[in-house]
Amino acid sequence: MAQSLTLKTQLASVEQQIEQACQQVQRAPDSVRLLAVSKTKPASMVLEAYQAGLREFGENYVQEAVDKITELAEYEDIQWHFIGPLQSNKTRLVAENFAWVQSIDRLKIARRLSEQRPQHLPPLQVLIQVNIDDEDSKSGIPLQQLPQLATEVSQLPQLALRGIMSIPAANASEQQQQQSFTALADAFHALKQQYDDVDTLSLGMSNDLATAIRHGSTMIRIGSSLFGKRQ
Ligand SMILES: *Cc1c(COP(=O)(O)O)cnc(C)c1O
Repeated sequence: MAQSLTLKTQLASVEQQIEQACQQVQRAPDSVRLLAVSKTKPASMVLEAYQAGLREFGENYVQEAVDKITELAEYEDIQWHFIGPLQSNKTRLVAENFAWVQSIDRLKIARRLSEQRPQHLPPLQVLIQVNIDDEDSKSGIPLQQLPQLATEVSQLPQLALRGIMSIPAANASEQQQQQSFTALADAFHALKQQYDDVDTLSLGMSNDLATAIRHGSTMIRIGSSLFGKRQ
């Protein structure tokens, strides 16, 4: 019981931060979706978050995620998002179990996901991951490669290209941060002009959600602020 009180309190605080950031730039609070990042947390916590009203969950590790998805299969309105680096030997499990993949960073993976997506399911909703600050530690493509990969991904039959995901550097200077967020916002608007289905800029985590929302993020991915620190 104590735990679900905490989750509710944390959720209320995140929702308040979303509202405040939206207010500052005159956006409607419901223009930002909240993805609850449940990696390393047990299915019981996902269920608590579900009972508090959340429906979209993000996972980074395929096997851990599939275990939770199986355990929570009766909650059919949960939308699972794969947000971690994806190896080609794991694409089938992802294609069969997730609604979204946010970490597309090469054509080979996108092709496999399209081929392996079961026909009875809707197309897999995908985002291309951009490594905006060129960090070696992060997946994603350089911004200059976005138009090319978007063209290729948009032609795959079992995928629907919905936009961009990025994880800007956590330790950047204020100026570098503004530059990166602005470049992502510009790239998103250009992509949106070109593709009818593109409507998602997945940007902002626990520590930078307000900056992300001010720069037009439509989906924030929140882990520790909701579920507590990870080990
Ligand atoms: C872990 C993770 C998050 C959540 O980060 P927090 O700082 O805990 O909110 C968001 N996005 C991605 C891609 C992640 O891997």
